[in-house]
Amino acid sequence: MLTLSAVCKRYPTGDLALTDIDLALPRGQVMALIGPSGAGKSTLIRCVNRLVEPTTGSIRLNDTEITRLSSGKLREARRTMAMIFQEYALVDRLTVMENVLSGRLGYVGFWRSFLRRYPQETVTEAFRLLERVGLAHALDKRADALSGGQRQRVGIARALLQSPKLLLVDEPTASLDPKTSRQIMRLIRELCAERELAAIINIHDVALARQFADRIVGLRAGEIVFDGKPGELTSEI
Ligand code: ADP
Ligand code: ADP
Repeated sequence: MLTLSAVCKRYPTGDLALTDIDLALPRGQVMALIGPSGAGKSTLIRCVNRLVEPTTGSIRLNDTEITRLSSGKLREARRTMAMIFQEYALVDRLTVMENVLSGRLGYVGFWRSFLRRYPQETVTEAFRLLERVGLAHALDKRADALSGGQRQRVGIARALLQSPKLLLVDEPTASLDPKTSRQIMRLIRELCAERELAAIINIHDVALARQFADRIVGLRAGEIVFDGKPGELTSEI
């Protein structure tokens, strides 16, 4: 479903962050991307939706050559690749529901005035998602009144409201305690299974990667040094 071919990224500073990455991700697969800080994990995830422009190589999502899209078409394609962030990237002064709806709207500045004219089915879908992630009771709470785990649940619901085919997840548990981290990873895992969603999860914690991913890819200095099932990972990356 997602294919990276010979992807390289060299930043203008000269840092070679990715070297010749070949990777194919089938539908529904949850892949954990592990490796030490600076290995290129964030760069790889951001190349897929072109928040970072790959220097060379090609990235395809189904029939779409992501690396060739004009900016208008890229905006469309990004809807199918929702992102979940380490620091949640919520708008603090907006409510839980408003934050989730902003995922579909695509930008948040004006959305409040849009709300009354918002399609009822989108609001209903947002509500269902909030029920699914366990936040139906907190719709009207402001985002800054939530715990870290709750904030990440909002981030997950917001991503799913985009009806993506692929989730790009960047260190989703880095700011959470161990128990909450496991809950969040389990939730992402279950939602991917329910919706046949593929995911790339950039994660520091190897134990979590082992527990919740179908596949582990290890990066070191911009190169793939491991690619296999969690059970096959024996050494440190
Ligand atoms: P991570 O926890 O993923 O390793 P970093 O702390 O390395 O994140 O990077 C944080 C931010 O700084 C990112 O947006 C990254 O793109 C940027 N960054 C990292 N290294 C450099 C660099 N050498 N020059 C400029 N920006 C950098
Ligand atoms: P990871 O997510 O595995 O920590 P990154 O993708 O953040 O790794 O970084 C990979 C390499 O690219 C590092 O050497 C980092 O310093 C460099 N890098 C990341 N972002 C930038 C940036 N915006 N500008 C320059 N160098 C960067």
